[in-house]
Amino acid sequence: MEPTSTFPEALPPFSERAEAVIAEVFGGLHNAPKVRKVRDDYWKLNAYGGLATFDDSRLTTLVFAAHRHCVRAEIDHSGPRRVKIILSDRKGRTGSMFTRHPDLQEALNIYYGATPEQPKRTLTCVYCGQEYPDQTPAHGAQVLTEHIRTCIKHPLRAAEAKIERLRKALMRITNVESLDEIPAMEQMVKTLASTQPDPDGAAAALDALAALRETA
Ligand SMILES: [Zn+2]
Repeated sequence: MEPTSTFPEALPPFSERAEAVIAEVFGGLHNAPKVRKVRDDYWKLNAYGGLATFDDSRLTTLVFAAHRHCVRAEIDHSGPRRVKIILSDRKGRTGSMFTRHPDLQEALNIYYGATPEQPKRTLTCVYCGQEYPDQTPAHGAQVLTEHIRTCIKHPLRAAEAKIERLRKALMRITNVESLDEIPAMEQMVKTLASTQPDPDGAAAALDALAALRETA
């Protein structure tokens, strides 16, 4: 997720923020419909066709961008095949409901029912994007740990595949086909070492067998 703008200092002017919203929704100001600037802090524009959440996600972008840029966005009726978008100024993140606008993180918290005493957050697997939105942090960490065991995109999967490959190679070298055969093979190596002394070879074989046992 894009970091939410928190505007630590003064807000940029409404015109700048409203243009940013419009540019995000329509893919650049040059693609946007004509804006009717009713007042300095109140703009209207008509979008042709519908607005959707995904697969032409202009509605989602409008909602996200409005939160990000601290602009209140409203959809209203318009002429045939058009929807009206109304953008109005909000003064910041705090203050009265009629003058402020939440940022995206606050919107998510509100949506997921978090309270100041028990904040909730969206946990996202950075490797595959799987989200766990409604978990408390303590439980969430456990959920992610469990997910990592099965996440197909986690680097551990590649490491596990390499370990498996190394184990197969070691098994061929030590001539064992399963864990059950390791004790007998160890015994055989020790017996052979006592009759035909090859301390290095025997130690290497025993080490390989131990590695197979320990990485199983
Ligand atoms: Zn994942």
